[in-house]
Formats: sequence, structure tokens, C-alpha cells
Amino acid sequence: MALIVQKYGGTSVGSADRIRRVAERLLAAQRGGADVVAVISAMAGVTDGLIKLAQELSPQPSAREMDALLATGEQGASALVAMAVNSLGGKAVSLTGAAAGIVTDGAHTKAKIAHISPRRIHELLAEDFIVIVAGFQGQSPEGAITTLGRGGSDLTAIALAAALKATDCQIFTDVDGVHTCDPRVVPEANKIDEIAYDELLEMAGAGSKVMQSRAVEFAKKFGVGFEVRSSLRDTPGTKAKAAPANMEDVVVRGVSLERKQAKVTICGVPDRPGCAGEIFSAIAAANLSVDMIVQNASSTGMTDLSFTLHHDDFLVAEKILTPLVSRIGASGMTATSGVAKLSVVGIGMRSHAGVASRLFACLGRAGVNIQLISTSEIKIAVVIAEDELERAAQVTHAAFGLARPRLATTAADG
Ligand code: ADP
Ligand code: ASP
Ligand code: MG
Repeated sequence: MALIVQKYGGTSVGSADRIRRVAERLLAAQRGGADVVAVISAMAGVTDGLIKLAQELSPQPSAREMDALLATGEQGASALVAMAVNSLGGKAVSLTGAAAGIVTDGAHTKAKIAHISPRRIHELLAEDFIVIVAGFQGQSPEGAITTLGRGGSDLTAIALAAALKATDCQIFTDVDGVHTCDPRVVPEANKIDEIAYDELLEMAGAGSKVMQSRAVEFAKKFGVGFEVRSSLRDTPGTKAKAAPANMEDVVVRGVSLERKQAKVTICGVPDRPGCAGEIFSAIAAANLSVDMIVQNASSTGMTDLSFTLHHDDFLVAEKILTPLVSRIGASGMTATSGVAKLSVVGIGMRSHAGVASRLFACLGRAGVNIQLISTSEIKIAVVIAEDELERAAQVTHAAFGLARPRLATTAADG
């Protein structure tokens, strides 16, 4: 028998009407002959609202209590979906992550799933219930509620699909699928029909938050195929898989954007072993995550080292590094917020030249200054001024022909 896991994000359960539509979809899937498991996010804005409330009461609330608080958003929405199914004449029951058998490590606010024991889910499915699981949460071995990082309901859905050996995993959201760029920024962005895990992973990691990157990582590791599709319209979405058709031919699959970045440059760093280690050990000790790291080749015995991090962390980084800069004998440091990252991603880049030149040339023509550049095998990322991001996204999207029918974006014009 088919077993379908359907995940609904915050906007898709954002009002009573939308919850009713979700319930109708779940019932339609069950009527189609499948066992149905739904993973539900908190209603739109609820998680942010709870975080704000916590911060009003405590500048640094304990991670354990934050998890206990934030998990309630998903629990409430799941109960509402179950009520809606029941009031339409169906049979549904909601479960917390813990009751669904999701066991995590104890890393509050960013817990990793250790294992899933889906016995209770199987029992309920055998009794013809639609099983509604609260997303984003699990339970530590000590019995505390844990959460899986922002956007973590995606991970709940993918992990449950793997544990239940689901025949289908569908991620319902407020857009028709993964697009060639965020459609809120580039309205001409095209829906992508099929995408490789590796491409979606790079895009998610570079700011395309349509899927949580940890969820994509999990899907890749366990070979869980899934579809990102609209909860508002009945159109086919984007299928994520190991090897989509024409994988190597599409040079650039999409453009990803990440706002709210900051850039730190340490100038005149002595070119000797240990300096970079000292700098990044200090950053790691303060639990700050850095993103791009760029170091110049040294011709004078001195080098410049730059990195980016989230702008919320940049004042802390500046404070930590100011004494360290003089201790290691560097000549100075500049730290600026108000920057953003734009990345082009595509597996076809491995086998086609000219992507970097096309990107840099189009940004140059648009008068957008590139402050930092970094690359991976299937991504080129640049740091630019945040107030130029929208314009840069639009010209980049056009330069790679992403708004035109898919055929025009193939190697022929790469
Ligand atoms: P959900 O609440 O359903 O999990 P999210 O807000 O997490 O939904 O993700 C959907 C949003 O992701 C869209 O509304 C869109 O603005 C944004 N987004 C960013 N990049 C992309 C992209 N490349 N394709 C589609 N959506 C994107
Ligand atoms: N509600 C959580 C968040 O806003 C998890 C999710 O929506 O996936 O991050
Ligand atoms: Mg999301």
C-alpha cells in the first residue's frame, strides 16, 4: 500500500481556511488509497512571535526552555489540522515529535535526529487514522523537548519518509516549487522541474530557504526523493533526486541570495603558520559561525584575510578580534555590515567554462562592485552591498537566461 508523507509549512496552515484546505488534501490522498502521514509547521509568524516574547523576558533565554516554548507552535497547528480532518468526517490524530518516536541528541535548538521508532505511527495507520505529526521537534534521550533548527519541519518530513519507507514525500509550501531565484525578488523566476540533491543543497546553504539545508542533506544521504509543491494550487512541483535528466547540460540551475551578512577583513596578517588558526579558534570559542573565508596569496610576508558572518554576530566578532589583531602583529581590521551574498549554482559548471566571466561581467555592466569571491565545484558566490542585491539578482538571472524556457539555459549558451 502507498504511504505518503505530506509536509505543510507555516503559510499553508496560516489561517482557519488554509487549515481546512490542508485537511481536504489529506483526505483526498487517503481516499486515493494511501496511508497518510502529515508533518505540520507552526502557523506563519508564530515561531518568530514566540522568540520575540522570550527575548522580552530574558536577554539570553536557556536553550532548553526555548525548545519547550517553540515546539508548542507546531503542536498547536497539528491539533488544529487534526480537528479540521475530524470535522470533515475523517479520522485523524495529532502526535508531538516525541510521541511519533523521534529521538534526537541533546543539542537544544539545533538537535540532530538520532533515530526514529515509528511504532505508534504504524499502529495508528493500521487503524485508518491520518497521522498528524508536529514538525521541527523531537525528544532527547533524557526526555527533554528538542528542536531541529529553523525550517526544521522539512527535516521531520524527510526523516519520517525515510523511517516509514514512504512511497512519496511531498513538501507543500507557498510557491509552486523551487525556482531559479526567489520569486519575491525576481518575479520572472522559473519553476525548476527537477533538481539534483547537490544543487538544492548548495542553493539552500547559499540562502534559498525554500528547503532547510539539513533536510536536503538527510534526503541525499538516505536517498529520499521528494517533491516541493504548492499548497495553494494543484500544479506539479519540483522533484529533488540524485540525478535529474540533463543534469550536466544545465550550466546554472539557480541564483541564491543571502541578506544580512557582515564582512570582516584583517589586514597585514603575518604570513606564518598558526595565525589563521588563532583567529578562527577565537571565533569558534565564541560559538560564531563564519561563512566565506578568503585569504590573499602573500608576496610581502603579509596577507589580508577576510570572512563573512551573519550581521547579528558581527559586533561580537569585532570585540573578540580587536585585541587579537595586535597580539598576532596584524596591521588592522575593518568590519562592515550591510553586505549580502549572491551565488550561482549548477552541476553543469563542472564541465562548462565561462560561468565566472559571465557573472562578473554582468555585475560589472550593472555597476555592482564585487567585494569578495569564493567558489566550490558547483557554485560561484560573491559578496556585494546589500542595497544592490535585488538589482544584481535580476541582471544575473537574465544573464544566465534563466527566465526563458528551460531549453535556452542549456550548455548551448553556456
Ligand atoms: P514554508 O513555510 O512552507 O516552509 P518557507 O518560507 O520556508 O516556506 O519557504 C518558501 C519561501 O522560500 C518562498 O515564499 C520564497 O520566497 C522563498 N524562496 C527563496 N528562494 C527560493 C527559490 N529559489 N525558490 C522558491 N522559493 C524560494
Ligand atoms: N516553525 C519553525 C520555524 O519557523 C520550523 C518550520 O517552520 O519548519 O523555523
Ligand atoms: Mg520552510
